[in-house]
Amino acid sequence: MPKPSLAQRLAVAGSLPSLRWTASAAVAVAVAIGAGAARAAESPGSGAAAQRVVLPAGVTPDHYRIDITPNAAQRTFTGIVDIDLTVHQPTERILLNSADLVIDKASLAGEAAPPDIAYDTKAQTASFGFGHALRAGPHTLHLEYHGQIFEHASGFFSLDYETPAGKVRALFTQFENSDARRFVPSWDEPGRKASFSLAATVPADLMPLSNMPMTSSEDLPGGLKHVQFGTTPKMSSYLLFFGLGDFERIHRMVEGVDVGVVVKRGDAANATYALDAAADILRYYNNYFGTHYPLPKLDMIAGPGASQFFGAMENWGAIFYFERILLVDPRVSTEADKQRVYTVVAHEMAHQWFGDLVTMAWWDDLWLNEGFASWMQNKVTDNFHPEWKVWLQSLAGKQSAMGEDARDGTHPIITPILDVQQAAGAFDTITYTKGAAVIRTLESYLGEDAFRAGVRRYMHDHAYGNTVTDDLWKAIDAGSSRPITQIAHDLTRQAGVPMVTEASATCSGGKTLLELSQGHFAIDADSTKARLWHVPVTVATLDGTSAKEVIFGAAPTTMTVTGCEPVILNAGQAAYFRSRYSNAGLAAVATRYATLSADDQLGLLNDTLSLATVGDVPMSTFMDLTRHFPADADAVVISALVGQMQVLDHIYEGLPAQAAFRTYARGVLAPVLAHVGWDKVAGESDNTAVLRDDLIAALGEFNDPDVIAEARKRFERYVGDPSTLDAATRRTVLRVVAVHADTASWDQMHALAKSAKTQVERQELYGLLAVAEDPALVQRALDLSLSGEPPKTTAPGMIGAASRRHPGMAFEFAVAHWDQVEAFLEPTSSARFVPRLVAGASDLQLVGKLDTFAEAHIPASARQDVRKADANIRYFAAIRKDRLPEVDRWLKSQGS
Ligand SMILES: [Zn+2]
Repeated sequence: MPKPSLAQRLAVAGSLPSLRWTASAAVAVAVAIGAGAARAAESPGSGAAAQRVVLPAGVTPDHYRIDITPNAAQRTFTGIVDIDLTVHQPTERILLNSADLVIDKASLAGEAAPPDIAYDTKAQTASFGFGHALRAGPHTLHLEYHGQIFEHASGFFSLDYETPAGKVRALFTQFENSDARRFVPSWDEPGRKASFSLAATVPADLMPLSNMPMTSSEDLPGGLKHVQFGTTPKMSSYLLFFGLGDFERIHRMVEGVDVGVVVKRGDAANATYALDAAADILRYYNNYFGTHYPLPKLDMIAGPGASQFFGAMENWGAIFYFERILLVDPRVSTEADKQRVYTVVAHEMAHQWFGDLVTMAWWDDLWLNEGFASWMQNKVTDNFHPEWKVWLQSLAGKQSAMGEDARDGTHPIITPILDVQQAAGAFDTITYTKGAAVIRTLESYLGEDAFRAGVRRYMHDHAYGNTVTDDLWKAIDAGSSRPITQIAHDLTRQAGVPMVTEASATCSGGKTLLELSQGHFAIDADSTKARLWHVPVTVATLDGTSAKEVIFGAAPTTMTVTGCEPVILNAGQAAYFRSRYSNAGLAAVATRYATLSADDQLGLLNDTLSLATVGDVPMSTFMDLTRHFPADADAVVISALVGQMQVLDHIYEGLPAQAAFRTYARGVLAPVLAHVGWDKVAGESDNTAVLRDDLIAALGEFNDPDVIAEARKRFERYVGDPSTLDAATRRTVLRVVAVHADTASWDQMHALAKSAKTQVERQELYGLLAVAEDPALVQRALDLSLSGEPPKTTAPGMIGAASRRHPGMAFEFAVAHWDQVEAFLEPTSSARFVPRLVAGASDLQLVGKLDTFAEAHIPASARQDVRKADANIRYFAAIRKDRLPEVDRWLKSQGS
């Protein structure tokens, strides 16, 4: 799944245009600064495996023959499954996963009497007792059952949408991490691979979809048909997929694979962008992985709706996407949307190998899927679209990850997961984004060719199997003279952020001697435990001479570089560590800031702000960088600066000095917008379009009167004639108006939401109703969210959108209506929703309130997000109390 892609864009921009709303928005804002307290749990090691809540190993599935009959109108279905299984040790009982299913009939081939069926709702299992030991060897279990079709995106679910002919319902499935058990009784654990052949009885005029192509279709009376799909290779249950709807499919053959995009009828024109992307990417991956994509077809399926916790899912051969991140609609999609569609397609397709062909044995190693796919999406995107500078963009993601990794609630990349509730919490920034940053560190250290050779060996050796992380390191080290296992272990088995400190830089005899030492970036007094890493360090002088070394231990290490120019630490910013310069070194580099590469400019900005927020360097050092910001800096770097200013503004919320800060921020950013302009200029770079959006949104938030007036003017024209706003500025204009809405413009926006042409626009407009500064309007939006008027999957997004500016209100509302709100959320993810509403707050009272809520409503194993939110609130509160006064003094010294 591509969860943090939203968060990454947020961290780049810090702004919250409508499509970026999620409850995690506040978290992303929180981590953009990238620092904080750490009390990271160390990996407890092998003891954890024994405590896992897993099925017994004595019986394993080999093949499932599933035949389902959905009743879309009633949102129910019936199923029949025959499971070929192997009994390894004689047992009286077969135990498998089953949740929200009723098993009506059960039998085991060769057994005269049906088994006793017992359910354990909490463990999500069903057991079949035979009263005597079953012999070791193959058996076939036959089950007839029925279950529910949900309205939230987990298990078997429906998405309703409007068409000119009325409301239409489409069906999909979503099983990661552990919801196949709501569709078919199964061994629903990633390590229990089996093959699947799925059949279904469906209305004859609809298009059914699964992982494999349809092999037969037989008409039945009553306007029905019975369809059979081909047998999958051995795979994990969470990758199974079924979909059904009034769809269209566009497709193309690419290296022998039928690649398609499936959309609801009428949307085909918006699907070609994704199909083109997929065709490029498939060729690249076939070569990169050295193992060709093994299924006959690869579909990308667009569903109208939203989830708070995922945007797409890598079901093998049948990737599901919410349509806003697969389709490019020329009326509403922005440049940032196009880049996101491309990278999400790249992410999900990388999973077809990393995740689907080779799968982690258990959720402890989830990062093998997600960290790798998050890295690979940048690798392939940079190959085809170097102009987007995705590696430079990825530094914002790394900044987010370092922020989370330095606070309480972080965890080692490889982390013990005991049960499925806890597994849901592992889909986080550490797993995805730190994981990707660590892969980048290692590839950069080892070299592209040697790294790829190791990945090819790993794919070849483990195809259709399950692995642990060390299998990857072994495969890479097997063909290389430069072992990475030690560096990899240090970065994946312990939490926290390494920090390389420059004690001194001395020039002598035409060389610079750097004295470096290693520490640990964290401020929490509880975090006194020393951790050390083997860190590959690259340094370079400003004229480009560089040196590389792996440093280990706290004792000073000396590195030598030719020349006496100022020296950049972590030159190119490919490695995962924070750089802390000596005062003289920082002054030398800051003076020449405009001459640094864009990567190093952004690296310095990120490190300086993070160190400043914890008091390691004065806030004035960061503010000085913003004052001297080069006017011709790369658009990505300016976007990052915009995001950082928005975060500071967010922490200033309600303080008297906020006005002075905003005046200063407008003074820095308004000239950039004046240069970039409101409208697209022929020949401008794609990233300039992204920057324009970010600038307008930020200046709108900072109460820039010209920006607000211009946005209102454009909005008035748009209400009269929607064609007057093009896709590039439409969303940002709507957002600025929504933030500053009065009753009249809120009502106008509400009317637009009700009459929106597409589901994506409807979702977006309903969300905008909740971003107003005026609390009375936010309250109206909150009340509206549960009224039944907005689409079902939109309600949580509206509450999430409200939390950005009014976290306390959003929290109180969600808690007061918890029964209703919870019903809108996916069950394995509901533990995360409320903590994320307050994660961007700086009001310490919310810590206690959140903890009280968690005690009552969140299982103990699923409270990772509570710890993270608490840590972030404390962090923001500390910045507000201790650091903002420094900024106030700096602003006064500038005459602001
Ligand atoms: Zn993923």
